[in-house]
Amino acid sequence: MTNDAIDLKDCPFCGGEAEIEQYGTPRMSTIYACQDCGCRLETGEEWGHGRQWNTRAAPQITPEVRERMIDVIQDAIEKRRATGKDTLPVTLAVIAADAVLTILNSIIKGE
Ligand SMILES: [Zn+2]
Repeated sequence: MTNDAIDLKDCPFCGGEAEIEQYGTPRMSTIYACQDCGCRLETGEEWGHGRQWNTRAAPQITPEVRERMIDVIQDAIEKRRATGKDTLPVTLAVIAADAVLTILNSIIKGE
């Protein structure tokens, strides 16, 4: 019962191709590994391999992530202002940040 693997989704961290390093049995864990970044998932799956790898929580762009991003942008703008150099208006930087987050969300959702 080791040939029941389904197509594995790409790595949630780097988008790399994943493989099953070890098929689970009653005595051995199932081990998945990304072939690019090396992240691994060890599970107790003995059949239907791939389920737990493919149902990993996708990264989420939460309101907290947006707030952190805006904080980083504001800090960067303030540091640049302190040097007397020209800088973007904060509003424009926030619009750019929102655009980046929208793109990331669509990538995460596979759109
Ligand atoms: Zn990876």
